[in-house]
Amino acid sequence: MIAENLHSVLDTLPKEVRLVAVSKFHPVSSLQQAYDAGQRIFGESHVQELVEKEALLPKDIEWHFIGHLQTNKVKYLAPFVSLIHAVDSLKLLREINRQAERCQRTIPCLLQIHIAQEETKFGLTPDELRQLLEAGEWRELTHVQIAGLMCMATNTDDEGQIDSEFALAAEIFREMKTAFFSDDAAFCELSMGMSGDYLIALRHGSTLVRVGSMIFGERDYTTHKQT
Ligand SMILES: *Cc1c(COP(=O)(O)O)cnc(C)c1O
Repeated sequence: MIAENLHSVLDTLPKEVRLVAVSKFHPVSSLQQAYDAGQRIFGESHVQELVEKEALLPKDIEWHFIGHLQTNKVKYLAPFVSLIHAVDSLKLLREINRQAERCQRTIPCLLQIHIAQEETKFGLTPDELRQLLEAGEWRELTHVQIAGLMCMATNTDDEGQIDSEFALAAEIFREMKTAFFSDDAAFCELSMGMSGDYLIALRHGSTLVRVGSMIFGERDYTTHKQT
């Protein structure tokens, strides 16, 4: 089932778009099935769960951290994480830089923008994002590479609303690219779209879609503790 689900999602993606298989709360055996079907990028949103899975699964997996990251947990991910999707403060960026330096790595990061109407979602408002980039300290953080932006749309059935939120994210991405990264080819990723809305995200230029339940089925929140 997982292999079939994976391929039916992959069939809908333009070849330049990468799929992050969001495997949080799913057992290692499910990830192994997706791996055996060819998937190499996996996304997790809890640090301890990610660290445990990384130890058990093949080493050529690209692990993406997609959840809200606390500064005191960066050190556990720094040795191996491939991309941190949801950086929403300079403080967090500084800590990623510090831990990456200790590991003699440069860690690619995406800045999370808050575009959804829900108040509970994390992320920088467009103004906060502009201010962070204008302040310029990030340029001195040589062990992090700002590789683009990430966002989540409002959890709603209103496709028009989702569409306008992704359109806004794409506009902000272009604005930031022009203003701060015009000579930086590494700033190229727009991480948006989940199982319920990734087809809409693709229309607005998403380069990374984060799809979980369409591949692995519903999550069973009773099998893992939140970490
Ligand atoms: C869980 C999660 C997803 C995947 O959600 P699905 O609806 O299962 O596809 C994508 N992005 C983030 C940030 C998540 O936490």
